[in-house]
Amino acid sequence: MSSPVQIAIRDLTHVYRQGGAGEREALKGISGDVYRGEFLVIIGPNGSGKSTLARHLNALLLPTAGTVAVDGLSTADPANLWEIRRRVGMVLQNPDNQLVAAVVEEDVAFGPENLGLPPEEVRRRVDGALAAVGLAEQRLRPPHLLSGGQKQRLAIAGALAMEPECLVLDEPTAMLDPAGRREVLGTLRQLNRERGMTVILVTHFMEEAALADRIWVLHGGRLVLSGSPAKVFSHRGELKDMGLTLPGAAELAWRLRQAGWPVPAEVVTLDQLVNFLVRKKQ
Ligand code: ADP
Ligand code: MG
Repeated sequence: MSSPVQIAIRDLTHVYRQGGAGEREALKGISGDVYRGEFLVIIGPNGSGKSTLARHLNALLLPTAGTVAVDGLSTADPANLWEIRRRVGMVLQNPDNQLVAAVVEEDVAFGPENLGLPPEEVRRRVDGALAAVGLAEQRLRPPHLLSGGQKQRLAIAGALAMEPECLVLDEPTAMLDPAGRREVLGTLRQLNRERGMTVILVTHFMEEAALADRIWVLHGGRLVLSGSPAKVFSHRGELKDMGLTLPGAAELAWRLRQAGWPVPAEVVTLDQLVNFLVRKKQ
C-alpha cells in the first residue's frame, strides 16, 4: 500500500538572493505533510510565502535549508526532477501565460507529445483531460476565444494530460469573475472527490478555503495555523490581525453564536449554515 503522506516538508527555509542585496527569507522553517487524496488550501496575506512554498512542491525552487520529498523523492536531488514533475502538476495564476497552441486540443496535447508518447496515447489523454474539465465540446476552438474560467480549466486540462497524482494551483482564480471561479472550483472538487486527486490550492478567497479538507495559514514565511476549516476559522481574531477575514457564512455563524445561537463550529459554508437554520426551524 502506498504511504498516506504524499509530500513531506521538513524545516523548509527559502532565502531569495542569499548574501546579495535584497536578501529575503521567504520561508522560515516550514514543516508539514500533504496527504494523498486530500484537498489542502494554503492561505495567507500577500508576501507570506504562499507562491514560494507552492514552487517547492514540484521542484521549481529548491530548499535553502530543510527538505521537500514527494513520495520519498527529495526535490534537492536532480535525478528526481522529472519523476517529481510527473507526479506533481502546477497551474499558475494567469491562464494566458500557460496556453501555448492555437487550438484547444493541441494545447492539451503539447505536454504528452513532448513526452514522446504514441499518438493514440496522446489522443486518449487529451480526450480524458478535456472531459474531466468539461471542455470536450470546445476542443477545436482557439483558446483566446474562451472565457477566463474556460481558459483556466484548459490550463488544468494541460496539467491533467500529464497524468499527475497531485495538482498544485497558485491562485488560479485570482483573475476570474465569480462565474469563472465557480467553474474552476467545481472542476477541482470533482477531480478531488471523484478521481482521488490530491489538490493543493493557494488562494486569497476565504470562501474557497472553506471547501478544503485542511487549511494551512502562512504568515511572514511561517506556517502559523493548520487544521480543518472549522478549526482554522475558530482563530477569527488571529486571522483578522493578519488581514484575513472569515468567509461570509463562517462570519455570520460566528455572529449568531455571539448572539446566543448554538451554531456548531463545523458550520463554515453557506450550505451548512442554511441546513442548520432549516433544521432549527423545524
Ligand atoms: P505570496 O505568494 O504569499 O504573496 P511570495 O512567496 O510570492 O508570497 O513571496 C514571499 C516573499 O518573498 C515576499 O516578501 C516577496 O517579496 C519575496 N520574493 C518572492 N519572489 C522573490 C524573488 N524572485 N526574489 C526576491 N524576493 C522574492
Ligand atoms: Mg503568490
